[in-house]
Amino acid sequence: MTAIRCAFCQGKGSDPFNCLSRLSRCQVCGGKGTVMVEEPNGMCVYCRGSGIQPYGMRVTCQVCGGKGVVRFGGPGEACPDCRGSGRTAGNGLPCTHCRGRGAIPRRPALPV
Ligand SMILES: [Zn+2]
Ligand SMILES: [Zn+2]
Ligand SMILES: [Zn+2]
Repeated sequence: MTAIRCAFCQGKGSDPFNCLSRLSRCQVCGGKGTVMVEEPNGMCVYCRGSGIQPYGMRVTCQVCGGKGVVRFGGPGEACPDCRGSGRTAGNGLPCTHCRGRGAIPRRPALPV
């Protein structure tokens, strides 16, 4: 586990959008300004590391939960469905194939 600066509040510890009140704490880091992430990890391509849900929604990124990074299960390769963008063409929702990560683990596919 590694501590990184909270992407959602940019390390300030307060809610970047003042959703609940001006004094509300960042819901991602709980006001600490840092979050713990598991290794190995990489930048969340879906929100481009911002921790904020794309397309103007003032909520945490649904892929990384606001941390700006996602855990990877090991060496991966670019997702063939979204070509590494993590987004579904057309509607901008997280790619269902890679779950918004933009990469898929290099291992046999799990049975669906
Ligand atoms: Zn935070
Ligand atoms: Zn994200
Ligand atoms: Zn994908």
